[in-house]
Parts: sequence; C-alpha cells; structure tokens
Amino acid sequence: MSRVALVTGGSRGIGRAIALLLAERGHRVAVNYSKGAEAAEGVVGTIIERGGDALAVQADVGSNDAVTSMFQRVADRLGPVDVLVNNAGITRDALLLRMNVDTWDEVIRTNLTSVYLCTKHALRSMVRARWGRVITIGSVAGLAGNPGQANYAATKAAIVGFTKSVAKEVGSRGITVNVIAPGFVETDLTAGLPEETKAAATASIALRRWGTPAEIASAVGYLASDEASYISGHVLVVDGGLAL
Ligand code: NDP
Repeated sequence: MSRVALVTGGSRGIGRAIALLLAERGHRVAVNYSKGAEAAEGVVGTIIERGGDALAVQADVGSNDAVTSMFQRVADRLGPVDVLVNNAGITRDALLLRMNVDTWDEVIRTNLTSVYLCTKHALRSMVRARWGRVITIGSVAGLAGNPGQANYAATKAAIVGFTKSVAKEVGSRGITVNVIAPGFVETDLTAGLPEETKAAATASIALRRWGTPAEIASAVGYLASDEASYISGHVLVVDGGLAL
C-alpha cells in the first residue's frame, strides 16, 4: 500500500517540487495551499496525468480549525498521513526597528505555529502506525541570521529546537523528525530581491549558483524514504556551500 504524504504550501516553489517528487516515488499526495487554488489544482493535475493520486486541500496552516479540518479531509480521501512536510512559509522583511507587531505575528503564525499544529495532528496516526516522517523546511537564515529577517530567522531557528524535542519524544515509535535548511532557491519568495543582493549571494555560494526547488525536493525524498530510517533530529543544510 502506498504511503500518504501531506505537503503544506505544495502549490508553488519548493513545495510543488516536493509534491511532484513524492508522487513520482509512489506516495499519494495532499497538496495544501492557502490562496492559490488554481496552482494547487495544477500540481494535482500533473500528478494524476503521470499516473499518481493527489488531492488539493485549502487551509491556512496557522489556524487550528483549518488544520483540523484539513487532516480530516486528507484522512477521508487518501488515508492517514505517513509523511508530513512542513513547507509553507512566508517572509515579511524589515529591519527590526521598523518591524511592526502585525508582520511579526503573521510570520510567527505562518512559519512556526503551523509546524506545531500540523506536526501534532500528523503524529496521532503516525504513533498508531509506529512509522512516520516529519520533515520541516527551515532555512540557513535560522542558523546564521540575516539582516532584515529577524522575524523569519526566529521562526526558522525555533523549528530546530522544536524538531529535536519532538524527535526525542516520538523516536521510540519509529517516527523520524528532521529539518532541511535550504540556502538561496529560485522561487516566488526570492524573485523580488534586488539584483545586487542576488549577485552578492551568488558570490558567497561555493557552487556559485542558486539551488533549484528540485534539489531541495530530492533531500526531502531521501529523508522521507526507508533508506533514512536512522536519521532523526538532524538539520540537513542544502545550500551549495553557502554556510562554509
Ligand atoms: P513560495 O512563496 O514560492 O511558496 C509558498 C507556498 O506556501 C505556497 O504554496 C503558498 O500557497 C503556501 N503558503 C503561504 N502561506 C500559507 C498559509 N498560511 N497556509 C498554507 N499555505 C501557505 O515559497 P518557497 O517555495 O520559496 O518556500 C517554501 C519554504 O522554503 C518556506 O518555508 C521557506 O521559508 C523555505 N525556504 C525558501 C528559500 C528560498 O530561497 N526560496 C530558502 C530557505 C528556505 P498560496 O500560494 O496558496 O498562498
């Protein structure tokens, strides 16, 4: 029986690549989105065209009620979630002195509270199955910091502590919990950066180029697989040598 994967923010960018790769590897995939129904249905259509099974599920992952009903819909249609990929994330950049409390709260809710809510829901069935994979997309910004991203970096650092704690709580049930920390990846999230910022970033990457969503997805595919059965509480940096 194929496994069920839920990818939050699976409609665009890195999440889309993860959804397509997990489907290619035989998972039935729930593609979560917040506002872009058309993009999510596009990912589902591609998966079905390729012979897979998928479902688009709308939910603001920062809302407890929305997450509860998302897990119910996924369970009813595809079955209980075996692989959770906490990918949905936003940036609301500003230097700290200009960062208002609304954007602070929005980033904390979308990038961090979402991880708590989705992981908690997913663990219930994983504990019963005595098997599970929780993979959260962090960022090198959470490890090294980044000016203008105190809110974003705080969430990406927090999920490391969250992941290590939960890995210790559920390891005895055959569940692994890990973080993937990408460097610079070409998506809508980074498309608006000024050209000189992009060029400066490229110059500091050992491989001298940005990563692709597919390159992040392949790391997720590995951690989701049986081959990665002895890796838990780990932060896998996928940044082309940026952090060296
Ligand atoms: P994109 O902006 O391209 O895509 C974001 C996705 O998240 C969309 O599918 C969007 O759906 C969804 N989303 C946003 N808010 C919510 C919400 N409240 N509830 C549910 N879904 C939501 O981002 P990326 O692909 O670039 O980023 C994906 C992850 O990778 C993020 O966690 C990001 O922090 C991380 N990352 C990205 C890097 C990069 O360079 N791109 C580097 C390091 C980490 P919708 O369109 O419906 O709103």
